[in-house]
Amino acid sequence: MTPGINPERLMAMLEQQAAIGATEGFGLARPALSELDVQARRWFADRVRESGLELSMDGAGNQSVTLFSEKPDAKTLLIGSHLDTVPNGGRYDGVLGVLSGFEVLLALRDAQIQLPFHLEVINFTDEEGTLRGVLGSSAAIGHLSAEDLAAIRGGMAELEAGLGRIGSSADALLHARRDFSRYVGYLEAHIEQGTRLETAHVDIGVVTSIVGVRSYWLTFGGEAAHAGTRPMPDRKDALWGASHLIQQAREHVLLNFQPGVVNFGRIALEPGAFNIVPAQVQMALEFRHGDPVILEAMEDALLTLARQSAEMFGLTLEIRSAGLIAPAPMDLAMVELIEVAAKRADLSHMRLMSFAGHDAQMLARVTPSVMFFVPCLDGVSHNPAEYCAPEDCAHAAQVLLEAVLLLAEKSGDEP
Ligand SMILES: [Zn+2]
Repeated sequence: MTPGINPERLMAMLEQQAAIGATEGFGLARPALSELDVQARRWFADRVRESGLELSMDGAGNQSVTLFSEKPDAKTLLIGSHLDTVPNGGRYDGVLGVLSGFEVLLALRDAQIQLPFHLEVINFTDEEGTLRGVLGSSAAIGHLSAEDLAAIRGGMAELEAGLGRIGSSADALLHARRDFSRYVGYLEAHIEQGTRLETAHVDIGVVTSIVGVRSYWLTFGGEAAHAGTRPMPDRKDALWGASHLIQQAREHVLLNFQPGVVNFGRIALEPGAFNIVPAQVQMALEFRHGDPVILEAMEDALLTLARQSAEMFGLTLEIRSAGLIAPAPMDLAMVELIEVAAKRADLSHMRLMSFAGHDAQMLARVTPSVMFFVPCLDGVSHNPAEYCAPEDCAHAAQVLLEAVLLLAEKSGDEP
């Protein structure tokens, strides 16, 4: 029997889960390990049990349902995303990836397909970073240390309380590492959270890389002076340097580093009065690109512009790193696999980068990984107005199903 996904079953699941933590309008609030997240986990466990399958949970609280292969020594193909949301988020971010994966698993089970690998669908803990971003996937790949936990948002007590709600602990979290030599790879479907697919009228966006992020505190130092009596040519106005940099950085990134992005998200002036020339400006600089080499070049260019801006206005400049996330290129063979899967499902596709973080960026370090996007209305996400049309939700499951079948055919060819 040819397996096919059941769009009505998928839509019914998406509808049901949206009742847990529903906010005004169309929104959802299920911060990781909160009481509402626990309810969503219980709901998922019930759906799995109802379908006659079993749910398991690892030390990080990652929930899994597995369709077992009868092949001896079978490895595992992992499909996943997350059921937690940001405080006033939407119904599809993460949820679509878990439930479309589960729909694929059910479709294969219903059609009694024998796969050459186990198929595991996973709900990763705290992708959104209520306590720490990509917490569950970091733990699963063994990239989580006791020092990381010490720096957790809200503190250790909050973490222990949350893990306690799902019957786990910080110690179990630190020991949740898996052996990824036993995995075939990782697939993740997600809403785009941007407008590129919508604008191009394309069904599927195949992610080639999840961007790296670098951030800096920049402090321009000048001299406070009377804003009336100090002649303009004699001023050391810290804001002149800072504002010059902002405009230069914008032009430079638009001209030389597309599709890279730069942002100055916070700016503080000292002393901060109508009648005083600004003596100091501190600002938060962040920039992103998916290519590690280009990200490095962006850093050189932006920090050079900052130094030049300081020099031009006779200012001092202090540069302090505020964090670094490496770009996560997706596996090229898996990217091509999704393109073939989309074609088989009769869907148009294009390649793009992901400018937001996802669990796939962790998995990419340990197993061949890829993620793909379906369009969401006006690119709106992390907002109650987030909306993914039923046909786009179904496309996510269709492409996942074709990808699983393609991988099964491929591994059947192996000697
Ligand atoms: Zn997400």
